[in-house]
Amino acid sequence: MKRIYLQKAKTQIARPNTIRDINKQIVLNYVRDRSPISRAEIARETALQRSTVSAIVDDLQEAGLIEDIGTGDSTGGRKPTLLRLKTGSPIAIGVDVTPQKTTVAIADLAGQVLEKETFPTSANMAFMTGQIIEKIRELAAKHPESDFEVGISVPGIADQTLGKVLYIPYFNWRDWNIAAQITEVTGFPATIENDANAIALAELWFGHDKIRKTRNFITVLVGEGIGTGIIFDGQIYRGEKGAAGEFGHMIVGVDAPVQCSCGSRDCWEAHASEKAIIRRYQKLLEDENLTQQAVDIKHLVTLAKNGETQAVRALRETARFLGIGISNLIVGLSPQAVIVSGIIVEAWDIIADELYSIAERSVRGGLPKTSIIASSLGDSPTLIGSLSLVLAKKFASAS
Ligand SMILES: [Zn+2]
Repeated sequence: MKRIYLQKAKTQIARPNTIRDINKQIVLNYVRDRSPISRAEIARETALQRSTVSAIVDDLQEAGLIEDIGTGDSTGGRKPTLLRLKTGSPIAIGVDVTPQKTTVAIADLAGQVLEKETFPTSANMAFMTGQIIEKIRELAAKHPESDFEVGISVPGIADQTLGKVLYIPYFNWRDWNIAAQITEVTGFPATIENDANAIALAELWFGHDKIRKTRNFITVLVGEGIGTGIIFDGQIYRGEKGAAGEFGHMIVGVDAPVQCSCGSRDCWEAHASEKAIIRRYQKLLEDENLTQQAVDIKHLVTLAKNGETQAVRALRETARFLGIGISNLIVGLSPQAVIVSGIIVEAWDIIADELYSIAERSVRGGLPKTSIIASSLGDSPTLIGSLSLVLAKKFASAS
């Protein structure tokens, strides 16, 4: 049940087209989730008229969203034509800005990346704007027949309604107007989102089956910092000005191994980010008078998987703090699941016990247990996130 706000009523009123639009989205989602599927099956499952389904399928085919893939088995009479999402034709451009590198990619409706380009992220905001637009134009020029939309994921606070990045702490960028500038030069509509929210959206639409059916969950991205995305009732909960989910700054202890991006040593981020893992590892080596070596997170995870004691201990100790934060989220928001993403997930076997045992303590009598799971989005969850900003719109209902 939702309250009707009169300020918004104009856009929500049920016009004759609204019902057709809703039905169109339902049919598209049947094709997405149950393909290969025939018109007759869709009509049976949705209880829509067979002729209505056929008209909608024609519209969706014309819009380049679904395609015929030949005929299925007949249950008497003519063999049915089977449908699936149209694959292989580019429709979305994703721009994934991370502190180290930026990737621009094109993908089809099923979220399959068809081509991508990566370059180092520069701290110069104007230069980055130019580079991103240049790459978008290059990729788009190869597919002049496509109608593109652009999704941009950034490691900071982004206001979707203003279409602008308010703040990126890593580079101290403020008021980055990237979405509007992309649209101005290329003519493509562009959507901007905080990286953790974009990941949450990607999990909702492209994560494993179990998640797709979950209406309330939280994603925790462990990277340079810690970002969280909240999916509440099947959509992103953004809060005022898109600033919700800044749990990276909740206090989980004192004297963390590194400073948080905000300067404090009490924040969750200071205790449980990649920086904290690396610092703990260096400290363990120092304590045992072992030779220091420069190590990045990817390397450290490999060392741990090969059984190196200090790397394993650094990961486990960090997992304990990650677990404390997750436990707080569970107690406060009671989600059905918490999904962890980032390179740390490659060492899931090493960290999972610590996470589960702490989160276990946040189970409250009689309530169902929250599952804590590793993301299935692979090693560039934020790229899938940026593409999801475009793709989810094609499948989501407008109201
Ligand atoms: Zn902080």
